[in-house]
Amino acid sequence: MKDQPSSSATSPTPRRDFIIVGAGPAGARAAELLAGKGRSVLLLDPKVPWEKPCGGGLTAAALDNTPELRELSSDTQTIRELLVVAASGASVVIPLANPFETVSRERLSAWGLDRAITAGARFLRRSAKVVVRRADGWEIADGDGEIHACRWLIAADGATSRLRKLLAPDLRPELAPLRVAYPSRGMTRGRAVFQFLPRAEGYLWDFPRPGHHSVGIGVPPGTFSKTALDGAIEQYQLGETGSRAAASFCGAVIASSKWAAGTFDDLGGRDFALLGDAGGLADPATGEGIDYALRSASLAAAAFDPELGFRGYPDAVKAAFGAEIRRSRFLRDRLYHPALAERLVQRARQSPRGALMLMSLVDAVNEHRPLRRAVLRGLLGRIPTDHPARAVCECPEGAPEGDRSPGLVHPRALRTAGATRATANSHGGG
Ligand SMILES: Cc1cc2nc3c(=O)[nH]c(=O)nc-3n(C[C@H](O)[C@H](O)[C@H](O)COP(=O)(O)OP(=O)(O)OC[C@H]3O[C@@H](n4cnc5c(N)ncnc54)[C@H](O)[C@@H]3O)c2cc1C
Repeated sequence: MKDQPSSSATSPTPRRDFIIVGAGPAGARAAELLAGKGRSVLLLDPKVPWEKPCGGGLTAAALDNTPELRELSSDTQTIRELLVVAASGASVVIPLANPFETVSRERLSAWGLDRAITAGARFLRRSAKVVVRRADGWEIADGDGEIHACRWLIAADGATSRLRKLLAPDLRPELAPLRVAYPSRGMTRGRAVFQFLPRAEGYLWDFPRPGHHSVGIGVPPGTFSKTALDGAIEQYQLGETGSRAAASFCGAVIASSKWAAGTFDDLGGRDFALLGDAGGLADPATGEGIDYALRSASLAAAAFDPELGFRGYPDAVKAAFGAEIRRSRFLRDRLYHPALAERLVQRARQSPRGALMLMSLVDAVNEHRPLRRAVLRGLLGRIPTDHPARAVCECPEGAPEGDRSPGLVHPRALRTAGATRATANSHGGG
């Protein structure tokens, strides 16, 4: 993003209170909430509504934190159980205490935009091209060369945010690469898949959505090539459906809160705020970012003060997410390790206590509850005779109901690919 106006720029349109760059979940929600308070808001995004590369998973916590998401219920797929597959191929089906939902990002995007416009925000399907800081606010030239002025600037331009570089140059989120495909066939509706990768950190997901699936792989930065990841997704698909499903592949990065540099203080100041992926707020262990995008928007809108701008916003984020982010960084360093997933799955297959442990961990992640309590519950909890944990481990060793070896990513697929230690190409991400 240039910091000087282009020569084709015209005179500013009437000055607004806020310009919000990016109308994903974070930007659209902030526009809705600030316009709802009677503030004048201009929302810029050249793409929305669009199918952003994403699983589109809305956890139980996301649905609780933003109950308005339930308005989407006729367009979501309810997920009641997970098939968790260890790198060895051993698998187990885990029922969820609270279901989560999946939704296409295009639908989510249209919903958010509609709510913002209904609340009174002005929307232009244009990008922010040039941003200039003035003594009392900002001037932004859009893709058509029109100049817009505002008092406060909100950056919600996603994982690869160019505004972040301008507003918070010290903040460096981890940019984790993902590849995703959208086939129309796959697993059973109502059941999602998490498959850990052989000899690699990361996992594959298969999220059924109404009418299609989101199947993808997330790995740590710099570990696998784009070709390797696409090959592994194709192999999974082949196993699931028996044929190479016609699927469009795309890549993106998640800006996770495993920050290489920066602190919460970088997220806001007198005249700006960074929301969602632009602020590097996605969960480093699970990649969940929609909830953090929506919540950061709510926190920014609530913390905004006409005198202090967004000076109170970083502390509000720290208070709301700090503990979650710490837990998630801790989990990320362990969860991505294939040995832990292997142990958890094997124990879940062998005993009700092991099954209870895995169920508790999955529920804690889905509901954003402390892991320590989940582990204690798994270790110490009493297991009534009719508890689902007993059913989970009823599949005998060797012939478990959950095993679906045809659909598994074969070690060879990633081992060959692993020789190319490059980052998956990213395009199309926020
Ligand atoms: C493959 C993948 C799978 C994922 N799966 C899940 C999941 O299942 N559940 C979950 O909760 N999270 C998931 N995430 C994370 C989630 O997608 C993001 O955390 C979330 O979309 C962040 O929302 P946001 O509004 O901050 O940014 P985005 O949704 O990325 O929106 C940013 C918007 O800014 C716009 N923009 C960019 N530059 C400009 C500019 N210069 N001018 C104007 N507009 C601009 C873009 O067009 C875009 O619409 C996944 C991410 C990836 C990559």
